[in-house]
Amino acid sequence: MDDKTQQLIREIEQEVFATSYLTGKDELDPRVISAIAKTPRDQFIADDLQHRAFDNKPLSIGYGQTISQPYIVALMTDLLSIQPHHKILEIGTGSGYQAAILSRLCTKVYTVERISELGKLAQTRFKKLHYENINTLIGNGYLGWPEHAPYDGIIVTAAAAQVPPALIEQLKPGGQLIIPVGLDRYHQDLLKLQKDQHNNVQTRSIIGVIFVPLVDDA
Ligand code: SAH
Repeated sequence: MDDKTQQLIREIEQEVFATSYLTGKDELDPRVISAIAKTPRDQFIADDLQHRAFDNKPLSIGYGQTISQPYIVALMTDLLSIQPHHKILEIGTGSGYQAAILSRLCTKVYTVERISELGKLAQTRFKKLHYENINTLIGNGYLGWPEHAPYDGIIVTAAAAQVPPALIEQLKPGGQLIIPVGLDRYHQDLLKLQKDQHNNVQTRSIIGVIFVPLVDDA
């Protein structure tokens, strides 16, 4: 691991520890740390922001969208409790960074992006960096990706006014859905919904977050 990555991991770990009173989590799964350490964040951002690629900060990716803060990526990934055999759905491909991290932890990643330029650019990156278990769809993620459902876990990286019903439907019993929900542009609650074997859903609020909006094109 190079110095910049090591420093980023340290900052993520410190923030996880500092926010444990909210999240109930004082350290991350070592597999999540390792997936972050092996994913070159600089490959997912534009040339003019390279000097900030390893900052623990969100960054612009154009089209009014952002690549999330690495601490939030780490926390949301950890909350999914991914197992190697899992099939995970992400809504909001953006740069492709979150999908790339997920792809190191499970068998298959499905990711949906509504802005075709971003989806296509992410696909180019997956190909270049040899992430071969990621499938990308340009479309309205509010509707999920029914063809490949059900999923062991679903992660939404844009803020929804409410939890999209299709995503709950496409979640396997025993699976978790991680999603920022709220109407305020600058504050949402990161929710973890857990579906039990009888299809009952329990919701827990984890921490306050700021995401760009999930746009429902329908
Ligand atoms: N996970 C991304 C960051 C996502 S930013 C990364 O690692 O870089 C949020 C993304 O969600 C944006 O690219 C935005 O275009 C996308 N988005 C918003 N509404 C959407 C929808 N209904 N369906 C699919 N993608 C959506």
